[in-house]
Amino acid sequence: MGKRRKLIWQLYPSYLIIVVLSLTGMGLYSFKILKELSQEGLLANLQAQAFLVQELVKRSFSGDRWAELDKQLKRIGASTSTRITVILPSGKVVGDSHENPERMDNHAIRPEIKEALAGKPGSSTRYSLSLNADLAYFAVPVQRDGRVVGVIRTSVPITAFTQVLRPFFLEFFLAGIVILVLAAGVSLYVSRRMEKPIEQIQRGAARFAQGDLQFRVETPRSEELGALAESMNEMAAQLHQRLTTITQQRNELEAVLSAMVEAVLVLDTRERILRVNQSAEKLFQIDATKVRLRSVQEAIRNTDLHRFVTSTLAGRMLVEGEIVIIGDPDKFLQAHGVTLTDAGGHILGALIVLNDISRLRTVEKIRRDFVANVSHELKTPITSIKGFLETLKEGALNDPENAERFLDIVIKHTDRLSLIIEDLLSLSRIERDAEKGEIALETGSIKEVFEAVEKTCRDKAQPKNIRLEYAVDDGLNAEINLTLLEQAIVNLVDNAIKYSEPESSVKVEGHKARDEIVITVQDHGCGISRDHLARIFERFYRVDKARSRKVGGTGLGLSIVRHIVIAHGGRIEVESFIGRGSTFSIHLPA
Ligand code: ADP
Repeated sequence: MGKRRKLIWQLYPSYLIIVVLSLTGMGLYSFKILKELSQEGLLANLQAQAFLVQELVKRSFSGDRWAELDKQLKRIGASTSTRITVILPSGKVVGDSHENPERMDNHAIRPEIKEALAGKPGSSTRYSLSLNADLAYFAVPVQRDGRVVGVIRTSVPITAFTQVLRPFFLEFFLAGIVILVLAAGVSLYVSRRMEKPIEQIQRGAARFAQGDLQFRVETPRSEELGALAESMNEMAAQLHQRLTTITQQRNELEAVLSAMVEAVLVLDTRERILRVNQSAEKLFQIDATKVRLRSVQEAIRNTDLHRFVTSTLAGRMLVEGEIVIIGDPDKFLQAHGVTLTDAGGHILGALIVLNDISRLRTVEKIRRDFVANVSHELKTPITSIKGFLETLKEGALNDPENAERFLDIVIKHTDRLSLIIEDLLSLSRIERDAEKGEIALETGSIKEVFEAVEKTCRDKAQPKNIRLEYAVDDGLNAEINLTLLEQAIVNLVDNAIKYSEPESSVKVEGHKARDEIVITVQDHGCGISRDHLARIFERFYRVDKARSRKVGGTGLGLSIVRHIVIAHGGRIEVESFIGRGSTFSIHLPA
């Protein structure tokens, strides 16, 4: 593209050229007309003079008095610039106002003379060698008795005519210059006036192009430009409105996407990421701006997801699947994929929605494990009971010594069954009440709770001769359910007794630490190894099954404690070292 020129500089020179051309044309034309007119006038003048002279010279023809004629002509010629010549039909010059006729050529072949000799007036303009100038000639015949007896010719140099015109030329030229200057000025003014609104519109268009759609172009008074400006304003207004709508819709979509718990991924047909929401960013630990337009394989390292994306893009139906993110812990995602199509049915990409179902999975697993555990726990005593009862029936009843022993074992297992069922019932009751918010909490004294625990546990500690020590401030109060908290502490003290060697001591303490009430149960027993610590609060989880069973454990005690503490809005912690003992601490909000 060449260098751009302003519109005015494209229009203005052509204006000027038109003005100059029309002035020149007009000048030349009027000069031609003037020249023709003046030549006509000149000829008419010559003609009039010729006719006048005709009367004057007619007399000379009657007696061939040529010398007298010549003298007369010279006299007339002295007072006028017109040259008068009298020629005979032979072409001989017999008189001339300015020259000696003797020295003049034969004039018979001069065109105007020829015409006059033929009986009609003749005229001609041509260059005269003798005078070295353009001359106009007019010739009239002199007739007597219907016969041409001579010719009178008048002539005048045309230079005289141009000289007459010269001052007029100058005036014409000056007037032309004035008109040219005026025309140049006017056309400059008009061009500038036209240029201004165009510039306004151009500036407006530039503002629109820069995105300032609320700008309005001033409407020029010119019809066409006014309409153009109005159309542009209208266009900008509509564009602005559409953009506002689009922005609003985009913001709404953005808000919906970022509020979604589900991870959302939008991909194009080449499996490149177009957008991801905040949940997806968190789930895959990616940055939305960094992964945009990168392939899903490159951005997210998960083969399950890659396979799922490919199969979604391959079909047009809603695709369902499961994706696992390996980690600590593993995450299980339920995936829904659907292709995105335009109005024409062409596939634009895919929408993938991922739902984290890890918690659901964990709950399911816990339930499955729980059912398996309960069955297993119940099966052992029932099998024993059944075995011994059968043995008794098959004859052992008749052996009183063994019968008594067998019955004792049956009772022991039945007790265990009842213990397990009691614990299960108590656990499910606490869980249910906590879920329904039916566990009543009221301000109670921790000291009171300790006193109840002391009463219950005294007999349990005695057989192993374990010393129980209690320490609690008098005024220590908390929002509690006295019965449940007592049960929780009893369970902890019970465990401490069970897993401690005889003659050792167990310390139960209550104190206030910052905004918490802390109740600790400390023993000097066998302790729990690190890898078991995290799981001992699970139902039926036991570090050493045989030992737990031997001491009458059900594997539910700590689970009950945990649920009670949670129902109080608190938490339970444990610190333990193998061979040195364990400290369980219940933290309740003060
Ligand atoms: P159990 O009825 O078997 O005691 P719990 O739920 O009360 O079940 O405890 C789970 C497991 O945690 C026990 O089997 C035991 O191995 C371990 N444990 C609990 N308390 C203590 C403790 N004070 N010292 C050592 N191990 C303990």
